[in-house]
Amino acid sequence: MTERLFFEDAYCREFSAMVTGRTRVGKSPGVILDRTAFYPTSGGQPNDLGVLNGVPVLDVVEGESGEIIHLLAGEIEGSSVTGIIDWPRRFDHMQQHSGQHILSQCFERALNAATVSFHLGLDFSTIDVSLAAFIEEKATDIETMANAAVFENRGIRAYFVNEAQLLALPLRKPPKVAGAIRIVEVDGFDFSACGGTHCRAAGEIGLIKVRKWERRGDTFRIDFLCGNRALKDYRWKNSTLNSLAMALSVKDRELGETVSRLLAEGREAQQQLSYLKEKLLDYEAAELDSQAQSLGGMRVVRQVFSQRSSEEIRRLAV
Ligand SMILES: [Zn+2]
Repeated sequence: MTERLFFEDAYCREFSAMVTGRTRVGKSPGVILDRTAFYPTSGGQPNDLGVLNGVPVLDVVEGESGEIIHLLAGEIEGSSVTGIIDWPRRFDHMQQHSGQHILSQCFERALNAATVSFHLGLDFSTIDVSLAAFIEEKATDIETMANAAVFENRGIRAYFVNEAQLLALPLRKPPKVAGAIRIVEVDGFDFSACGGTHCRAAGEIGLIKVRKWERRGDTFRIDFLCGNRALKDYRWKNSTLNSLAMALSVKDRELGETVSRLLAEGREAQQQLSYLKEKLLDYEAAELDSQAQSLGGMRVVRQVFSQRSSEEIRRLAV
């Protein structure tokens, strides 16, 4: 069993350890250490990256006996190692994961909706919640509640409890494992059984923003972003809005109204164009008819069109 330094201190970025085992997964050599700050993929949170003795860590996985396997880009010699984790990646995961706990609690409080799963990708964060219906107004209320917990800068701490102590806690959902359970508490606000890495205070999460949602059977998938991800998302959206407003010579807040008006004008222009095309074809048909020659009792018109659609030519012939 590898000692998990991230349980005690999620801010530990550099550590020394001893190699206790070596393995191989596919083509990658793997090492097992007596202690590590590298988080293995679990509970919806992806693994850390970084280096061990300067060799890149490609993946971190949990073995069957609780050991943590670091898959490496190359072999490392010797029995002692120094590990450094990729901190921006880890901190991003901490912001999303702590934000998720708060958001899930808000769904419980506002809609009595349980979170059934959490996914954290390279640039997206989602939770699936049990819900029959979801509307914009509710999303705004929940978002406001979640950000209020952030602005209150509630402390976040992790601790282990036994089964008796567990019964006294208002857990969001029962833990999947028995024995000593690790609890992550957002001070008096949310209690979750969780092995993940978290910010030490809600203020570090930054903004929690619900971006969109979609129905998936009897659940809704809520797409949200926290902290730096929310800032990056705001940045490109703001830049897009500014360029569009400049191109259309309106204020950013007038964009919605302006685009609706332009679309309506476009539809109207399209209708007028169709009407005028029809009229023009009628005139053209009458003119061609006047040039028709009699051939075996039929009136024949010969004309070559190189730049007209077959639909238009058919219409002309009728
Ligand atoms: Zn968690």
